[in-house]
Amino acid sequence: MYNVYELDKIAITVKSRKLLKQLLKENPKLDEIMINAQNETEALIGVKNWVFEILSQSIDAKKYYEEGSGNGISFKSLKWSDYAAIRILDYIDNAGREFIDLNLRGKLAISNPMQLIWLAANRGTGGAKPYFFEDMLHLFRQLMGEDERIKPDKAIVLEWMKRYPSGLDPRIIKLREENRDRIINIFIDKIVDGEINDSKYRFENENSRREKYEKMLEWWKEGTFHLHFAVRKADLLNELMGFSLDPDTMDILHDAENKGIPFFVNPYYLSLLHVRVPYFAIGADLAIRDYIIYSRQLIEEFGHIRAWEKEDSVEPGIPNAAGWLLPTHYNIHRRYPDVAILIPDTMGRACSGLCSSCQRMYDFQNGHLNFNLNKLKPSESWNERLVKLMNYFENDSQLRDILITGGDALMSADKSLSKILDAVYEMAKMKKEANKLRTEGEKYAEICRVRLGTRLPIYLPQRITVNLVNILKNFKKKASKIGIKQFVIQTHIESPMEVTPEAKEGIQKLISAGWIVTNQHVFTAASSRRGHNAKLRAVLNEVGVLPYYTFSVKGYMENNHAFAPNARAVQESIEEKVIGSVPEEYFDMIKDFPLDAENINENINMVCKNADIPFLALDRNVLNLPGVGKSLTFRIIGITRYGRRILEFDHDATRFHSPIIHRMGKIVIIESKSISEYRKQLEDMGEDISEYAGLFGYSIGETESRMSIYEYPDYDYKITEEFTNLELEEELKVN
Ligand code: SF4
Repeated sequence: MYNVYELDKIAITVKSRKLLKQLLKENPKLDEIMINAQNETEALIGVKNWVFEILSQSIDAKKYYEEGSGNGISFKSLKWSDYAAIRILDYIDNAGREFIDLNLRGKLAISNPMQLIWLAANRGTGGAKPYFFEDMLHLFRQLMGEDERIKPDKAIVLEWMKRYPSGLDPRIIKLREENRDRIINIFIDKIVDGEINDSKYRFENENSRREKYEKMLEWWKEGTFHLHFAVRKADLLNELMGFSLDPDTMDILHDAENKGIPFFVNPYYLSLLHVRVPYFAIGADLAIRDYIIYSRQLIEEFGHIRAWEKEDSVEPGIPNAAGWLLPTHYNIHRRYPDVAILIPDTMGRACSGLCSSCQRMYDFQNGHLNFNLNKLKPSESWNERLVKLMNYFENDSQLRDILITGGDALMSADKSLSKILDAVYEMAKMKKEANKLRTEGEKYAEICRVRLGTRLPIYLPQRITVNLVNILKNFKKKASKIGIKQFVIQTHIESPMEVTPEAKEGIQKLISAGWIVTNQHVFTAASSRRGHNAKLRAVLNEVGVLPYYTFSVKGYMENNHAFAPNARAVQESIEEKVIGSVPEEYFDMIKDFPLDAENINENINMVCKNADIPFLALDRNVLNLPGVGKSLTFRIIGITRYGRRILEFDHDATRFHSPIIHRMGKIVIIESKSISEYRKQLEDMGEDISEYAGLFGYSIGETESRMSIYEYPDYDYKITEEFTNLELEEELKVN
């Protein structure tokens, strides 16, 4: 184990030296300060005085620096150079702070960039890497007005969007049919050879090849077929992909197997991957590919992954990180007063695929989760537990929203799902009844929103059957009568290429049941390419889906490959998403979308057309904080010698939180990837890096306002201010 302070003695590399030389040459004032300072403290004071003088020329920027967000000044109104001045001053204010870096398995990280420059300039030490100096070069160019931000106009963003075809493009549909047929033919051979012996999916001896093919085409339309035939081994994956995976990728996948990382890719989803790259869709399937193919970092970290969501660690009877008391270990996750997640003891604990950056990799490590679908069928004790869980919702003063997920809510069999929805209905009814006995101001929040969290519309659209639609329809019909107003399928679509004719049909069926479908997109490196997310929003709208969140990738070094820096999330929001900003005059209309869910396609089209926008940008770009809640309100307050940025987040002030947040303070995050590494990754994906100018400079973020459609409906009575099921530790109650 090294001593972090010893790193100051490490000589910088030749490349770092060259970058340092350039930095000092471009900034004579910085050069003068560094050369004249006798020690790092003098260097810090010198830079601080210089930069503070620059910042003080703008009253607003100075106020923003001193008072932070929420001071009445939007970060968007600041000059580009103000961002740099604020960042340099924040670096200096936080100089010498120590942070536990969970990307490096808990090693200590110290941020003191001006000291690193001074050490490098005067002693040739400090150990700062080229990525650090590249970030510094851009920072001082931004300060001096040399690194300008040029926002793309709408026409450019529309051009970028064209780079990404959707899965509804007839040429893509044809390619997927080829993929399907290749997979089907391999499976036919394996069944005939006896290599696959499935009790449900088998041929008659007398079936001709053609008949076998026809039969399998029929099976292809069934969800269970895809679960039975899901790929769990790397070699089979490669075979089904026409042996198109390169040896390096296969090494990674074999290493993953040896390490016990589960692998689960159903044939339908696999058929979305190209094995030959068409000229019109180069790189279009990358976001999907990165969800299936594991990264080297994941393999290396598996076994050491730390849970990102602290509030998900539950011990009944002991408050979780957000202060909530919960009835069982694994069935309810809760961060906020008004909503809790229900995870049933059914097949819904699984998904019909395993996304490589899933936060549940943590649970796969200790074997708590797996893909033994038969073992996940509900046991006897589930009936009793369900009662206990519903009692929890019924007797909670603030809960009004139940999000049934897993895993994946629609992985539950119809019977299991019906039973859960029936239980939710009875609970909501009893909660309403009990309120009649409570006086105004003492009433409990009644259930007004029910959500099902699922990626099945994309992973396995065949699961969306007429029977399932009837279950949803009937539930809505009776639940509407007891005051539940919002019925939401919350899905997770990563790429426009995932929106296939099958997915579209499945989504239309869900909409026909009167449920709205909203999307949570994970902003992975591949999906963070210029125009990708904007195109996704447009394609989602085309099939009646509403964007809800764009989430920065969570996790530490295990998700390094998938991670796109938060600076890019802010840039995407300001430079691309903006072309779909909904004018305020439409807010009321959009708020009522859930009340007319069956006509969502028409309603989306109408607003887009009248407002002349290519899509409805209803989503907020946020990070799920490893404390409580979501936010993109941050400032970069530090940087490691590897050039990885240190961000300090505030909680989302617009949202109703557990009172614990007032005691928690700010949340600090160290990103797993420097901006330079991210840019290099973009270049490796064939991106023209000049299109990302300005990326280094987005060092401040503010959480966007929540759109009207995602607000809870108002009650016509006053609910209690009392919090049940909340326990704050004694010292937290003081003040
Ligand atoms: S659908 Fe969600 S829960 Fe399931 S594997 Fe993917 S990220 Fe994880």
